[in-house]
Amino acid sequence: MAARPKEGSPVRPAGSRQVVHFPDPVLRRKALPVRSVDESVRSLVDEMFRLMDEEDGAGLAAPQVGESLRIFVTGTTERGVPRRAYINPVLELSGDFESMEEGCLSLPDIRGSVRRPVTATIRALDLDGNEFTETSSEFQARVWQHEFDHLEGVLIIDKMSPLDRLRVRRALKDLKAAADEGR
Ligand code: ZN
Repeated sequence: MAARPKEGSPVRPAGSRQVVHFPDPVLRRKALPVRSVDESVRSLVDEMFRLMDEEDGAGLAAPQVGESLRIFVTGTTERGVPRRAYINPVLELSGDFESMEEGCLSLPDIRGSVRRPVTATIRALDLDGNEFTETSSEFQARVWQHEFDHLEGVLIIDKMSPLDRLRVRRALKDLKAAADEGR
């Protein structure tokens, strides 16, 4: 029997992580709050930044690197999203809904239109364990919502229009087949 990972702190050694793809079950789990912002959390975040950069993402959540913890990172110069880590984030949404095409590093080759509120306020801990609050009505607010969904086990395929979902059916099947082959 495999040892159960201790809840609430990173379990894998640094340098071994990769972005996990659908249908890995970790992507469907509700992530656990971080108990304390310590060195292991900071080294996990370092690796998340590295993988996000490598794969050219605008954001990356801990479940996407196999850690079921409430952490995500953001950052892309292209659309003015600051480089930042959010630990145990809480989101408050407001404003009108807007549709925009999104992709996800855990769903390669899949894009679809997702409707989200335009404005978000986020409260989270930084890498020193200090609480901070930000509000955005820009692309940043959409990235927060996308990454926050990952902490709840929610993916863009759950939020796409029925037509888009139909369109990506084949790509999803291919991802499942790739996972079966890797087993
Ligand atoms: Zn994603």
